[in-house]
Amino acid sequence: MKKGLIEKYRKFLPVSDKTPVITLNEGDTPLIKGKVLSELTGGKVLLKFEGTNPTGSFKDRGMCMAISKALEKGAEAVMCASTGNTSASAAAYAARAGIKSIVLIPEGKIARGKLSQALIHGAQVIAIQGNFDDALRMVVEITSRYPIQLVNSINPYRIEGQKTGSFEICDEMGKAPDYHFIPVGNAGNITAYWKGYKEYYSAGIISSLPRMRGYQAEGAAPIVRGKVVPNPETVATAIRIGNPARWKEAETAARESGGKIDMVSDQEILSAYHLLGKEEGIFVEPASAASVAGLLKFNRENPGVLKDKIIVCILTGTGLKDPDRAVKESPVPESVPPTLKILEEKLGLK
Ligand SMILES: *Cc1c(COP(=O)(O)O)cnc(C)c1O
Repeated sequence: MKKGLIEKYRKFLPVSDKTPVITLNEGDTPLIKGKVLSELTGGKVLLKFEGTNPTGSFKDRGMCMAISKALEKGAEAVMCASTGNTSASAAAYAARAGIKSIVLIPEGKIARGKLSQALIHGAQVIAIQGNFDDALRMVVEITSRYPIQLVNSINPYRIEGQKTGSFEICDEMGKAPDYHFIPVGNAGNITAYWKGYKEYYSAGIISSLPRMRGYQAEGAAPIVRGKVVPNPETVATAIRIGNPARWKEAETAARESGGKIDMVSDQEILSAYHLLGKEEGIFVEPASAASVAGLLKFNRENPGVLKDKIIVCILTGTGLKDPDRAVKESPVPESVPPTLKILEEKLGLK
């Protein structure tokens, strides 16, 4: 039975008997074989679908830890800046814990599914007339001045919770993958996965480590370009970040593992988004498709290298988060009168 990741991985997490465990039974997400992607690359591609978490993204892994620890400390309010999923998750877990949540979002740049979640969970939502980086700067200031707990991924407990994604992958396969592909925004998730793999390695549970390959969007690729991007732009709003909070850690993960932080274009992201939907039957939000776009780019540039390798791609969140994008990317449904004959013609049945 699912009992949430704090109970499941208690001995690897900084919790004690005194920690009030706030859980929505997050984690335990499926590792789905990518049929078409395995054929395309010649490797065994496994898609870890984080969209099945309670609020629809991997953020729940970190948030159950961050909120539990905030409550342990006696916090009565939490605050975050968010491109959407962090706010949805913070709002849900704060509601569960019975504490207040305040979220700052970049005005007009947050997907509708995510905004609706923060609102329905009762967060105080404030739109900043700026981008994510502006919002994060303000949250850091406010939480340093007032007794409000910051729950962005600079919060170390977020990383602790998120590292359990690696544990699940290794537990399920009995070993680590050869390659790990993952979208990179603030770079908390790549930092967390790498930490998780290294802890399992140190504990002797796995005997090898994956190469970490992180993917930013071309219009929001500060790490790849080696400088802050003042006005990041990409359809993948969850990774529309110009100055990642975990920049150095992401570079370390790539370097230590023999991997790389690279970038993919919006076109490549959307093409992977459609491939996942049409060929693999998995609906993700655009940012989540960056890992698969990265896999396809890597395979194109390094033909044959992935043959017989075990490859994990993290699909960070569900497509229902951003329904407007799905509709915009697709043809408008045809309309016909309620007449069988006309329908048959439309369907090419006669
Ligand atoms: C937060 C998020 C990311 C980026 O993760 P970071 O830890 O910021 O690198 C990618 N995809 C989705 C769906 C997200 O919510």
